[in-house]
Amino acid sequence: MTINNKDSSRPAKPKFSELLSQPEVKARWDKVRKYFFLRESTYDMSNRCNIRCDGCYYFEGDKQFAREIGDVEAWRRLMQAEKARGITYVVLAGAEPSLVPELLNVCYQEMPLGSIATNGFKKIPESVGYKIHISVWGNDETSLRIRKAKNLLKKQVENYKNDPRAVFVYTFTRENIDEVNDVAEELVAQGCKITFNVFSSPVGYTGHLRHDDESLQQTKQMMIALLNKYPQNILFSVYNAVAHTHKKGLHDLYSCSYPRQNPSQDIGLGRSFRQYRTDLNWDRSVACCVPDTDCSDCRHYAAGSAVVTARFYRHANNLASFKSWLDYVDTYLAVWVMGYEKGKNLCTEPIKPPPPAVK
Ligand code: SF4
Repeated sequence: MTINNKDSSRPAKPKFSELLSQPEVKARWDKVRKYFFLRESTYDMSNRCNIRCDGCYYFEGDKQFAREIGDVEAWRRLMQAEKARGITYVVLAGAEPSLVPELLNVCYQEMPLGSIATNGFKKIPESVGYKIHISVWGNDETSLRIRKAKNLLKKQVENYKNDPRAVFVYTFTRENIDEVNDVAEELVAQGCKITFNVFSSPVGYTGHLRHDDESLQQTKQMMIALLNKYPQNILFSVYNAVAHTHKKGLHDLYSCSYPRQNPSQDIGLGRSFRQYRTDLNWDRSVACCVPDTDCSDCRHYAAGSAVVTARFYRHANNLASFKSWLDYVDTYLAVWVMGYEKGKNLCTEPIKPPPPAVK
């Protein structure tokens, strides 16, 4: 999720000043560039969850077996050490952070910028001023079937309606594309903010939630239709829809910058990113924001927020690409940073994700 304006591809053809000649483009560039200081790492907070979802990447691989360290002072020391090595933004996830509110509080005291990924079943205290991403996987019938959770959406809305921290993250699977209509209508009626995610299979997962070419196309059309229908509530852009529903996954399209796929430790995420487990250890060889996800199927919103934003240079080849990239970054900041307000999208036409420049 770190914004990094260094890209291995060559600088753009048009002069940068030409790309900024339209006032609204210049204003958006000036707005987003203030956040280029963000440097993220992610942290598993507990090895327990109060629900169990099909296709959950936390309960894949070794990390689920890491010992849970609930010592508040150990977490405080970790946050202080992270700050000292240049981390400015924390993502608190796996398995369910709301089960350890005392740890969330200490993280927030030490590191004031960040977000929490939660299923929304248990409300996170208001003293924790991070963005809160509430995962929605369909309507209540679907949630009962694949998450074994009764009345989940109702509970999520009760907990987070009118909460400026909250963004509801609707994950499109192969099976729930049409359901989003009713879910979005209900969330919009309650004044909630929504963004979109695309189910990305854990390693080895071949189940019925995995997307195919047809479901990706349908998902893209649905995302754009809802974005047009509810522009005030849906934090997204046409380019987000394009990037996350392409036949190719994010790594094939943009070359993932997380350590797990990026051997370079010279600059950017390859150098700074760590994914801590609940025992406060980390392992570079598996470090990314969605560990144990199958890279060839990775279209995850959290991954894109780093991988696409980092590819500034290749999007500076023409105005439509640059505007699309600005929309993407503007969306990412509105979803992930408290107090950042989403602007009107600059590009409403789909573009093709630009390839790296030829050297
Ligand atoms: S799962 Fe996604 S974010 Fe993680 S290394 Fe693979 S492509 Fe990158």
